[in-house]
Amino acid sequence: MVKTFQAYLPPTNRTYSCVHCRAHLASHDELISKSFQGSQGRAYLFNSVVNVACGQAEERVLLTGLHAVADIYCECCKTPLGWKYEHAFESSQKYKEGKYIIELAHMIKENGWD
Ligand SMILES: [Zn+2]
Repeated sequence: MVKTFQAYLPPTNRTYSCVHCRAHLASHDELISKSFQGSQGRAYLFNSVVNVACGQAEERVLLTGLHAVADIYCECCKTPLGWKYEHAFESSQKYKEGKYIIELAHMIKENGWD
């Protein structure tokens, strides 16, 4: 087993954390869109994430067309969180390439939310 070190986001930022182990996952500043749909409900699109590991990419037909996506999971507790868009085949979907989807069901908000 390789020891992985947990990354921490600056405490001044509003952050999203893993609901299962409280590892930081993403800063609110990295949020691109809240209007995504995951297998368990709402999901958010992030520009970058931390403490997240990627599975093998595979081609899937999603609501918005064919994409190459990789499952992502929490590096600390290994819970599947969502997926990463590795490649989009339609030009209108290109903005999602290299971005991460995390399902709302796996996140809690921390630091300075109201
Ligand atoms: Zn976790």
